[in-house]
Formats: sequence, structure tokens, C-alpha cells
Amino acid sequence: MEAILQETKFIMNKYHIKANRNLGQNFLVNEKTIEKIIESSNIQKTDLVIEIGPGLGTLTKQLLEKAGKVICIELDAKMITILKDRFKLYSNFEIIHQDVLKVDLQTLIKREKEQAKIEKVKIVANLPYYITTPIIMKLLEERLDLETITVMVQKEVADRLTAIPGEKNTGAITYSVFYYAEATQIIEVEKESFIPEPEVTSMVIQFNIRKQPKVKIKDEKAMFNIIKNAFTQRRKTLLNALTNTHIFQNKEQGIQILKQLGLKENVRAEELTLEQFAKITEKL
Ligand code: SAM
Repeated sequence: MEAILQETKFIMNKYHIKANRNLGQNFLVNEKTIEKIIESSNIQKTDLVIEIGPGLGTLTKQLLEKAGKVICIELDAKMITILKDRFKLYSNFEIIHQDVLKVDLQTLIKREKEQAKIEKVKIVANLPYYITTPIIMKLLEERLDLETITVMVQKEVADRLTAIPGEKNTGAITYSVFYYAEATQIIEVEKESFIPEPEVTSMVIQFNIRKQPKVKIKDEKAMFNIIKNAFTQRRKTLLNALTNTHIFQNKEQGIQILKQLGLKENVRAEELTLEQFAKITEKL
């Protein structure tokens, strides 16, 4: 039995823990995957790492050895007890008992960056899958002062998040992510790498946060609203989708705009690049 599996079972027994599926608890027990997450995060002594959902502390232990500081955000009180116990001797460990979606990360990062020794801030997480998208969108949309985000997500979601607009596997979210970050796939992770096993295959992905968003746009909210509407009716042509949702005042206006951009009348949302959506937004 892998040492990590043994250790996880030991901790679960000691604290009478049963994984809570409602909280997306699937504990990572694969040594190679843990190594890959840590290695790809390239953590330095001048880094602050924010870990979302540390659970029993499997990744936390490695992060504490490498980072200047680790701040964990965990919702489950049972995990808080374990983590406090387990890492009480580490002076670079802090824990926040809260729903990550409610944490004011902006203020937290600002406070930590005022400490002389912290230069960069990185997020590392094996995410609870029931709130993957809201967490990732919070991290990106709040324009946090982050270097990288390295996270485990479901493979299907990973494909969407790391796709390139205009190519295959895209959805509205692909465009949002691409605007803020460059996303890459790190490693595919089989179900057997967790206890309990999740229902789907997983993947570790990494976002490198862009210093400047990918396109210049005055009203990014308007652009993302157009993209969302274009993809809600993705089986239709872009012209019909945006006319039906009243983004175009009428078909004639739509035809004219598509023509000005050199796009076919029957073009579909997924064929457009981010720049082309930005141009449509500017024209409107
Ligand atoms: N990091 C551990 C590991 O890799 O074994 C556990 C990962 S488990 C997939 C997800 C963790 O996120 C659980 O510990 C769960 O309690 C925690 N969690 C669930 N919802 C949360 C929320 N809204 N805010 C913070 N943590 C949450």
C-alpha cells in the first residue's frame, strides 16, 4: 500500500472521518499526482500559497515545506480540527474556517503582500467539484494579484477551461478564462487516485494569470454577456442566437455587423475568436 494511502486511512480512523460527499470530499492518495501538483506549482520560499479545501492536509504538508507561507481555506469544521492538530508546529501555517466563495481574497492578499518576504501569490487546490466553476471565476474575475492557479478539476471541465477560443471543446467559460489567463493541462488523474473514488476522471490544470487581459475592451461585462447569450443557443447560428436574445436589435443589424467583421452569415458562436467577440461588442 502506498504510504500516502496508509497515512490517509490512519488519519481518517483516528478522527472518525467519513468523507462528506456533499462537500466534494475525495481525498487524494496518489503519490505521483501529489508530486506533479507540487512540482508544477514551482513554489519558492518567497511565495504565499493559498490552498482551497485542504481536507486532511495531504497537499498542505508538502506546501508548508516549500512555501514562505500557506493559508488554507476550509469549510468543514472536522477538517479544521485535524489541520490545526497536524500543523501546529509550523509557524508559516494559517487556516481560515470559511466558505471560500465568501472570503475577501483581495484584502487577504494585500495584507500578506505587505509582508516583506512575500513576493508572489499562488493558488493550489484539489477543488470540491460541486463548486469548481464559481471558485475559478471568483479567482479570475476579482483580478487578484496572483501568479498561478494550479487546480484539480473534472477532466470534462478541464477540457473546456483549457480550450482555445475558435477551436474545439469551447464553451462560454473558455472565453472568460482565456481573457484572464493562459491555461494548460498538467496531468490526467484516474478515479483510483482518490478515496472515495469520484464518478469521473480528473485532471490537474494550471492558469498563468496574464498581466494584461488578452483583448482591450471598454465594457468587458457587455462582452461576456454577448458570449453567454451566443452559447446558450449554440445549436443556432450566431446571427439567430444574438437576434433571439435581443443583443442585435434585429437581423439586419446583425447581418451588417457580421459583414463588417468579414464573418459568414451562418457562422456559429464556437467559430469566433475572443477578438471577434470584442469587436462585435464595440460595434454595439
Ligand atoms: N485537499 C484535499 C486532498 O487533496 O485530499 C481535499 C480535497 S477535497 C476534493 C475538497 C475539499 O474542499 C474538502 O476538504 C472540502 O471539505 C472542502 N470544501 C468544500 N466546499 C468548500 C467551500 N465552499 N469552501 C472551502 N472548502 C470547501
